[in-house]
Amino acid sequence: MRICRFDDERLGIVEGDEVRDVTEVIEHLPAVRYPLPRTDPLIAHLPRLRPLIEARMAHAPRRRLAELRLLSPVANPGKVVAAPVNYLKHLEEARADAGLHHNAKVEEIRKIGLFLKASSSVVGASEGVAIRLPERRNDHEVELAAIIGTKADRVPVERALDHVAGYCIGLDMTVRGPEERSLRKSVDSFTVLGPWMVTADACPPPVDWDLSLTVGSEARQSANTRDLVLSVAELIAFASAFYTLHPGDVILTGTPDGVGPVKPGDTIAATVQHVGTMTVAIREASGPGASF
Ligand code: MN
Repeated sequence: MRICRFDDERLGIVEGDEVRDVTEVIEHLPAVRYPLPRTDPLIAHLPRLRPLIEARMAHAPRRRLAELRLLSPVANPGKVVAAPVNYLKHLEEARADAGLHHNAKVEEIRKIGLFLKASSSVVGASEGVAIRLPERRNDHEVELAAIIGTKADRVPVERALDHVAGYCIGLDMTVRGPEERSLRKSVDSFTVLGPWMVTADACPPPVDWDLSLTVGSEARQSANTRDLVLSVAELIAFASAFYTLHPGDVILTGTPDGVGPVKPGDTIAATVQHVGTMTVAIREASGPGASF
């Protein structure tokens, strides 16, 4: 099942170039009140909602996918976990380019572990990326993103994928500079998730998936998840050794080589096998200027 969120917080199921609008089923989510749970309610309750979605499908209004404004498939991720340099070729690339590493030592993921991106940086494909610091280099990173479906606390590698609700494409956008990764990658709109979530039962394990990215007509990144240093299962086990993963948490699994700059006016097309392609426009942020 391919689940999307679109327009004014609507819920849809993607079928080819159409979307069935099943927003009604959201009414079946339990009401939440303060203090809010550390989960995304839709992802947490998806197993219970799926029969309701399936029952609704036959009568659901059809919409043309191309006309919809796609939002992040996860509305409220509690945390966005990300993997630094998790493809060996990207590690070599990062070490070779001073513009990437800013004289900080680029270490292998097993030594430095994972980092967190602010959940406020999450947007959907149609919302686009807004550059706040246009005088700096702003880079794209295409990644496979795993969405946690059930609580995962110190899970072994061999059980880790059981905790995944589904997958989507992630863009881990980055402002280059000397600051901590977490800050430079947490700019508003710098985590693009989409274009929808493919549920884990609708795809093979993510061990041999192609992923690629173009900017305009220029091919920039092309790789396969078989070349991940830590596999998706290993990343989940690693992360859950330190902190509990909750439904709706997102794991960005790392970018392959070929990262490069984008500027306002560019259009990114990011593709992940078994998920699809998302098109993301880059613009300059409106509002007050910021420069640091
Ligand atoms: Mn990344």
